[in-house]
This record gives sequence, structure tokens and C-alpha cells, in this order.
Amino acid sequence: MKTELHIVGGGMAGSEAAWQAASMGVPVVIHEMRPKVGTFAHRTGNLGEMVCSNSFRSDDDEQNAVGLLHWEMMHAGGLIMRTAHAHRLPAGGALAVDRDPFAQAVTDALTAHPNVRVSHEEVTELPTDGHWIFATGPLTSTALGAAIQAETGAERLAFFDAIAPIVYADTIDMDIAWRQSRYDKGETEAERTAYINCPMTREQYDAFIDALLAADKTEFHEGETAGYFDGCLPIEVMAERGRETLRHGPMKPVGLTNPHDPEHKPWAVVQLRRDNALGTLYNIVGFQTKMKYGAQKDVFRMIPGLGEANFARLGGIHRNTFLNSPTLLDERMRLRTRPNIRFAGQVTGVEGYVESAAMGLIAGRMAASEILDQDLPVVPQDTAHGALMHHISGGAEAKTFQPMNVNFGLFRPLDGIRGGRRGRRDRYKAYTDRAKAAWTEWLHAQRASRAAE
Ligand SMILES: Cc1cc2nc3c(=O)[nH]c(=O)nc-3n(C[C@H](O)[C@H](O)[C@H](O)COP(=O)(O)OP(=O)(O)OC[C@H]3O[C@@H](n4cnc5c(N)ncnc54)[C@H](O)[C@@H]3O)c2cc1C
Repeated sequence: MKTELHIVGGGMAGSEAAWQAASMGVPVVIHEMRPKVGTFAHRTGNLGEMVCSNSFRSDDDEQNAVGLLHWEMMHAGGLIMRTAHAHRLPAGGALAVDRDPFAQAVTDALTAHPNVRVSHEEVTELPTDGHWIFATGPLTSTALGAAIQAETGAERLAFFDAIAPIVYADTIDMDIAWRQSRYDKGETEAERTAYINCPMTREQYDAFIDALLAADKTEFHEGETAGYFDGCLPIEVMAERGRETLRHGPMKPVGLTNPHDPEHKPWAVVQLRRDNALGTLYNIVGFQTKMKYGAQKDVFRMIPGLGEANFARLGGIHRNTFLNSPTLLDERMRLRTRPNIRFAGQVTGVEGYVESAAMGLIAGRMAASEILDQDLPVVPQDTAHGALMHHISGGAEAKTFQPMNVNFGLFRPLDGIRGGRRGRRDRYKAYTDRAKAAWTEWLHAQRASRAAE
């Protein structure tokens, strides 16, 4: 009898992982706690339930990184994408779906598969033997969260994200901003110039605070607690506490000299910190926020130097269980301390239905290959799947690690392609062409190695 693969969680990642492994001939048991044990966001006992919006976002596989992930998943026989297309609703360029028939179809496909068994139970421990994938998502049950923390250390499993907006470095206006760490601290030139600084005059600061106070904010979901607030206050809450609070907090102008105007001390300074090893992404330090997405763009573009900024992701604060993956997972998504356990989906520090399903696709293939003793070539870094995987398993800054959507800032830059906003269309097309070629080659290599056995 072949070894079974156990998958905990039958959401986006667990369902896709199960489908991939079962399709490769591996017997799979999905352990899903719903409907016996619920979460505050799920409503049914179905596999693949969408907890909020019914959109898989852009379906443009030439100009959009999420659309590229769609394309890659479709070409890998992905269940989530195939079912999404079958239940598509009209939504312009977005892939929106009829959520209940979608989840029902995912459930039916998996329960009908001869290699899949579904067991409705909560798993509360990390098993010491067998092959396991944990895909328990942002709302991982409390008992399992405690077991994971016992293994990883409390500080390496977070229960909330506090995401500051992330900007594409090449859209920051460096004729206004400059690179410098506070008090020029650091041993090396790279450390002394680690931050990008955006200066504000008193008038600009006042207008910024007014806009922050007036901006539309999102409410917490019912059942989400706000008890995490200490230490990661949203900037608009800081501004509500007093107009000067930010100027004495994340926007303090001390220890910095503006080389574009050294005679004048800025009234306030917004700092951006490098967010990935490639240096293509910068987060706005201390700017976690509950402002609505549209409002965030308007307010943050008031910051001098960010007038033309493009955002790789906007800020947010949510209930979200996720690992510090860069320190905990190896390049095959296994827990370094317990290689019989893989993690997949949102709990690995990706964000969104599509990204979670994509990480499930890879984890399912990796686990199945291991059980079948087949060689699985390394996922190419130039694909959307590879870029995301590389980010969570080592490319991201571990100290400030927060969940990430797929975006072109995670891709290795291309030589000879124009940077900045103007070269964007050509650059994105070149990224997606390169990714599609690498993904196709990766899939072919797996088919060839299976055929040879
Ligand atoms: C309130 C809320 C709103 C969101 N809105 C959106 C949105 O609009 N768009 C978007 O793209 N993303 C959204 N997300 C993020 C979304 O959750 C993920 O994108 C996606 O669902 C993650 O997929 P996953 O498979 O990792 O987790 P999930 O889809 O959540 O699946 C995890 C599964 O594991 C099960 N489980 C948990 N613990 C255990 C256990 N101990 N034993 C057995 N089973 C267990 C859960 O019941 C669940 O079915 C939202 C998240 C939350 C919390």
C-alpha cells in the first residue's frame, strides 16, 4: 500500500494540494474541522469556501502578477482555477465566481476522487511521523496554534498582521527623497543608507494629518478582536490621539539631513525601509492602517516623493495566523525542525485566495514526489509561483516579515528593460513571457521524469 499524505485544512491551499497529490497517484486524507468546529468567517462545511470577496482578482496573464499565477495554475491542472473558470461571473478583467456553486464543485471533485478521503475533525497536534501538510489558514484553530507555537517559539507565529503599505522602489522620486539611516548609523555604506526618506514642511504635514483624519476606514469583522493594538497602532489612530503624535513617532525628523535642501530641517520625515533582498520593494515604516484602499492611495501620494508612487500592496490590519517562514521553512516548505511537516497557504505568509491555492499546488506536488520517491525539479524563481516561494522561504526580510501578495516587485529584474512607470507595460510583458517559458519547462521536466520511470 502506498504511503498516505495527510492534509490539514480543506480551504484554498489544502484543496489544491490534495488535488495535485491525488492526481499524481498518492492517497490523500483531508482533515477539515468544519462544520464540526467553525471559524468566525466560514459559513459552510464545504471545501474551498471563499470567506469574503468572491473575486480571484485580475485574470490578465500578460500585465498582472495575479493573472500570471492563474495562468500557471491552469497549466498545472489546478482544481481551484479550473473550477473558478467553470463558475465565472461577469466582472470585467477580474475572475469573479459564483461562490456557493464554486465551493460545492471543489468539494464534489475532491470527494469523488478515488484517492481522496475527507475526515471532518480538528487536528490539535503536530504529528511526529507520516507525511503532513498543514494548510490551516489565517484562522488556524486555537489548539493547533498553541501546538505550532510550542514547536516554533511564540514569537515566530503571529495572530495578526499589521501591514504597512509597500511601494515599488523605482516609482519613488529620488529628486525629492534621499537615502540615509537615522544618525548615519551602521558599519557599512549599505547600512548607513538603508532607508529612503521623504521630507515634509509644516504645511504639508498639516494637510497630511487632515487627510488622515478625514479618510474612510474599514471596520473590523465581527469576531475579530482589537486587543492586539499595543505596539502596532494604525497611523490614523495615532493621529486621532493628537496632531503631533506622528511627528514624535514614526515621522520624527531627527538624525536626518536632506541633501536636496541641507539648510532647512524638515518638519516631519516619512521613512521607507527595504522589504526584499532584491531591493525592488520598500515599506513605509510604522504606517500600518485600517484606511480603505482607495483612501490610502490618495493620502500616501500626498507624501513628497511618493506623488507618483505605485503600491505593490496597501496597508491593513487583520486577524491572521502566519509563520515567520523565512526562518522556519526550508526551500521545500518543510518545517526545518520537523521535515515530515510542510506548511502551505496563507499560514506561510502569502496573502489571498490565489496565492494560498498556488502554495498548496506546490506543496502538494512536493509532498507527493517525496512519497513516490520522484525527483521534483526546483520551482524556477522567475515564475510567479517561484517568486512567491522564494520570498517566503528566504527572500523577505525575516525581522519585518508580513504576509505578501504576488507582485512584480518579487521578480528578478530583467536586464535591458526600461525601469519606472513609463517602461511598465514592456517590463510586465517581459516578466510574464519569461515566467511562462520557465513554468512550461518545469511542468515538462516533471512529465518527462514520470514517463521515464
Ligand atoms: C475575514 C477574512 C476575510 C478575507 N477576505 C479575503 C478576500 O476577500 N480575498 C482574498 O483573496 N483573501 C481573503 N482573506 C484571506 C483568505 O483567508 C485567504 O486568502 C485564503 O482563504 C487562505 O487560504 P488557506 O487555504 O490558506 O486558508 P483557508 O481557506 O482559511 O482554509 C483553512 C482551512 O483550515 C481549517 N482548519 C483550521 N484549523 C484547523 C485544524 N486545527 N484542524 C482541521 N482544520 C482546520 C479551516 O476550517 C479552513 O477550512 C480573508 C481572510 C479573512 C480571515
